[in-house]
Amino acid sequence: MTTAREIHLVRRPNGLPTSEDFALVDVRLPPIVDGQLLVDAVLLSVDPYMRPRLDSDQPLDAPMLGGGIGRVIESRHPNFATGDLVRHGSGFRDRFVSDGTGLTALRPDPDLPLTVYLHALGGTGLTAYGGLLETGALKDGEQVFVSTAARAVGSVAAQIAKLKGCYVVGTTGSPEKVAWLRDIIGLDAVIDYKMQPLDNAIAAATPNGIDVYFENVGGAHMDAALPRMNVRGRIPVCGMISTYNGGGEGVHNLFNMIYRRVRMEGFVATDFAHLGGSFTREMTKWLKDGSIKYQETVLNGFEKAPEGLIGLFKGQNLGKMLIRIAE
Ligand code: NAP
Repeated sequence: MTTAREIHLVRRPNGLPTSEDFALVDVRLPPIVDGQLLVDAVLLSVDPYMRPRLDSDQPLDAPMLGGGIGRVIESRHPNFATGDLVRHGSGFRDRFVSDGTGLTALRPDPDLPLTVYLHALGGTGLTAYGGLLETGALKDGEQVFVSTAARAVGSVAAQIAKLKGCYVVGTTGSPEKVAWLRDIIGLDAVIDYKMQPLDNAIAAATPNGIDVYFENVGGAHMDAALPRMNVRGRIPVCGMISTYNGGGEGVHNLFNMIYRRVRMEGFVATDFAHLGGSFTREMTKWLKDGSIKYQETVLNGFEKAPEGLIGLFKGQNLGKMLIRIAE
């Protein structure tokens, strides 16, 4: 018999989640039997998509749905050995028993930090890569606008667009993040959406219009981008974070899609599983040669997971939000 800790949702949030909506719960785990393995969490991924789930899909008084990287500490499963690293979607649990369902072995490149496998080389990177290149059908040298451009998905999308020779405009929410995007990432124009009216700022920053708007925010961002779309423009819709806690501005400018023949299409990361091979090869190269840069906010301690999730909606993270439980 061994023990574990779990983060449970104990109350559905009203708007922005608070720490009282979550509880840290001690549980006992049975000994593993044939076909099972015991996994210790190493890193947890904290993502905006978790917020809408708290309103219905996430069961109450059960571990938060989510995923991360863990290490096998005991195995009676033929496909996993003690010491193996695995990617999992087994929720916010610092130790768990598994029959292998939903686990994939991870063999990280020794020249890259493990954390990149939860962002640039993980689901967020694949989302940016597939959303921009496949759904957005990006062509070299086009005019690109990326919202939330300093964050996990947006920063990768913006940098891939720069690698493809595009003119790239991004929005973000603080002077520090504006400076990172402008001076380190080298975007052509950066807008602090909290400091100026978006419609004027986006119009001024896109003198040749927008061919691809990589949408992460929705609301006022979408409204300001629509009148700037070029004929046959594409809007790959990755997320609409401004709406996840309820409220947010409505969109009034959708009529611009008609005469400009704009295509808007949503997608989820799993749509791009078929791109996994080329994505892993290209992203590994870009990370190693420094063409793709990233930021991370790593909170140490399993119990920090709710704080990490709440922080996403206050803009407290610099890049991907992660929870480290073990080295
Ligand atoms: P993230 O790194 O977790 O960061 C979230 C950031 O969003 C915040 O730090 C804040 O940054 C910004 N934000 C929060 N509330 C906002 C608001 N009301 N208005 C404007 N910006 C706001 O985010 P991420 O993982 O890159 O996710 C970005 C978007 O992609 C989200 O909409 C998410 O749901 C979506 N996504 C979709 C998929 C998919 O499969 N379709 C997969 C992953 C993510 P600043 O204020 O500093 O800009």
